[in-house]
Amino acid sequence: MGCVPTPYGCLLNLAPSAIPDIVFVPAGEIIFRQGADGDCGYLIEDGVVEIIVEGDVPRSVGFRSQGELIGEMAIVHGGKRFATIVAQTDCRLMHISAERILRCLDGADPILRMVVDTLLERLRAMLHDRFDGSTSLGPDIAARQSIILQAVEQIRRERDFRHALERGEVTLHFQPIVALADGAVVGFEGLARWRHPERGMISPGEFIPLAEASGMIGVLTRHCMEQAVKALHFLDDGDDGGSRPPLFVNVNVSSHDLVDPAFADYLVAFVERWPIARGRLKIEITESALMSDPEQALSTLRLCRTIGIGVAIDDFGTGYSSLSYLHRLPIDVLKIDQSFIRGMAADVHSAKIVRTILRLAEEIGVPVVSEGLEVPAEVLALTRMGCALGQGYHFARPMTLEDAGVFVTTWPAMAVAEPLVA
Ligand code: C2E
Ligand code: CA
Ligand code: CA
Repeated sequence: MGCVPTPYGCLLNLAPSAIPDIVFVPAGEIIFRQGADGDCGYLIEDGVVEIIVEGDVPRSVGFRSQGELIGEMAIVHGGKRFATIVAQTDCRLMHISAERILRCLDGADPILRMVVDTLLERLRAMLHDRFDGSTSLGPDIAARQSIILQAVEQIRRERDFRHALERGEVTLHFQPIVALADGAVVGFEGLARWRHPERGMISPGEFIPLAEASGMIGVLTRHCMEQAVKALHFLDDGDDGGSRPPLFVNVNVSSHDLVDPAFADYLVAFVERWPIARGRLKIEITESALMSDPEQALSTLRLCRTIGIGVAIDDFGTGYSSLSYLHRLPIDVLKIDQSFIRGMAADVHSAKIVRTILRLAEEIGVPVVSEGLEVPAEVLALTRMGCALGQGYHFARPMTLEDAGVFVTTWPAMAVAEPLVA
């Protein structure tokens, strides 16, 4: 079987670094040949390929199509290709180098890395025993293939997410935060949304872990901070002539940002570029983010205080921060996690925790936002307990910036209290 040239030349003859991320292979072309050195696999994004075992008489042993991997043995095993792969139709392939997989491992937790390295080593030994001179595909190979497919899917999603950021598909939506005493809108929390061209709206629960794992969280956070500043300007353009205090916007910041010294430098440059009145922009950080590197966190929070960016502790009550430590932190707001609000009706412990947090906040002199207020009874209970601020579906779901602009001008302040006194 000859090697038919492609727009990239025969893949077999290209150095790995010369192979692009996505490779188009016309029907009839050999993708790689049995016996050749292999140090990469391919995910079939589109098309069908045939697997041929060469010998006295070449023998077809199967086909692979969209979503399946070919040549994946080389990702962990290296060495010679076990079969020849021929494109049956025009194919679009995603190139996955062994080096790319190993790079993922570089940034991994050292214990995880040691475990994976050991397993890979054993796998290599097993494959060596099993495959030298043999081409049979055992059931453990299928299991391993599925693990590799998951890794490939992760790489693909990372790439999609990077492109989504570049194309402006990730934007902030805004959920109002309301003063419980009189129902006035006082600010918004910015919540990231990915509007995927095919999958529709993707929630942050799916893409934030992806952004964190792939090192793109810093880019996302910076993108959100800039959108928040634009939102501050936009929302105050529709202001009511000065009768209410200026609105604030909160941005969620990941633990990865907090421990990254470059993020502190970014904040300094950010306030120079976008001068904002003190407290109009806040970062929200979770208790657990604070605890991952308390000294660096403290230093970043102190910097925030100096440059006029506020700090809200998010999901408060779910982490393990020591109260004495909390006292040292320059905090502007505590946000009670919605799980306690949800639990209040059914269990007395949640109500006790909420009361304790409110007392603690009073001690350290910061207002509290109750998150996840969904029904009037919850709003009433929190108002009676003296909680200053509330956020949740009872008031509004997160909305686009344009809708938030309409919301601030049309939201009737006292509407919140009416069902409460009835
Ligand atoms: P979070 O910061 O605790 O945000 C509150 C979440 O609760 C949001 O979910 C919001 O839509 C939802 N929520 C608000 N009110 C209610 C309610 O009354 N009932 C219920 N059941 N849910 C309510 P969302 O937008 O899916 O965000 C989930 C999490 O993703 C956020 O939790 C935050 O940790 C993270 N996140 C969102 N945007 C960003 C971002 O820009 N950067 C970072 N690092 N994380 C983000
Ligand atoms: Ca938050
Ligand atoms: Ca929260």
